[in-house]
Amino acid sequence: MRNILKLLAVIMIMAGAATMAYAQEIHRYKLGDFELIAIMQQANAMNPANVLNENPSKLASLTNIKGWDGSSMSYFVLKANGKTILFDTGLQPTNTKQMLAKAGVMTDDVDMIVLTHTHGDHIGGMVDGTSAVFKKAHVYIATEEAAWWEKQGSASAILKAYSNMTRFAQNANIAPGIVSVPAFGHTPGHTAYKITSGGKTLVIWGDIVHTAIQFMDPDTYLKYDSDPKTAIATRKALMADIAGSQAYVAGMHMVSPLVGKIKEAETGYEFVPQPDGAM
Ligand SMILES: [Zn+2]
Repeated sequence: MRNILKLLAVIMIMAGAATMAYAQEIHRYKLGDFELIAIMQQANAMNPANVLNENPSKLASLTNIKGWDGSSMSYFVLKANGKTILFDTGLQPTNTKQMLAKAGVMTDDVDMIVLTHTHGDHIGGMVDGTSAVFKKAHVYIATEEAAWWEKQGSASAILKAYSNMTRFAQNANIAPGIVSVPAFGHTPGHTAYKITSGGKTLVIWGDIVHTAIQFMDPDTYLKYDSDPKTAIATRKALMADIAGSQAYVAGMHMVSPLVGKIKEAETGYEFVPQPDGAM
């Protein structure tokens, strides 16, 4: 597992170094009474050839589809019921603090951190050295994910820094209008969140998609999926569910503007970007 996490870190660093001044974006939406801020820390964060467990010829056969290799590294702020809620925290604290400040969110404003899973690019912004970046935040994590994370021994700095941590069971009510949805496979406790307000629904689905090619071919999976079979089944079920509904979707590695709808396409699914503003 250590090696897989190391590989992941190397991929991220290489992606960052290769582009140097990589694109960053902030998008704002209204979902009923809630406000969503989508923060893209880095565009094109993933090289499909490095992260996907696919042979090069199959990848090459899909490269004629425009945008097949699009990706990002992103996270989300939700303002709901008077609370500021962070869904994942990015790769490292300096960048996360800068991007949040640009979006008008101070670290002490954050009341809740809700985690999709515990890979470094999702929890890396939580601690600066050994101290909590979000001093007032209560952390929410799926029981299955917390158990897996704690077993790896990499959790201790964050666990020490955040004494307020709730480990929740499947399909838990996290806060009014926010329900957890088990989306296991990428990691043992990988979790999506269904957010509902004013009759509108948004699913923040974490790492269901790492590069856009997975919309076109949901069977494509990652070198570091904990359980590829389950990850594929989860991706297909969630995509079918969302495409068949009026729900919006947002993801931590999706292309600009990180939020949209999905619809069935000739080849798999198509991501339909949602412009900033009311959903
Ligand atoms: Zn990720």
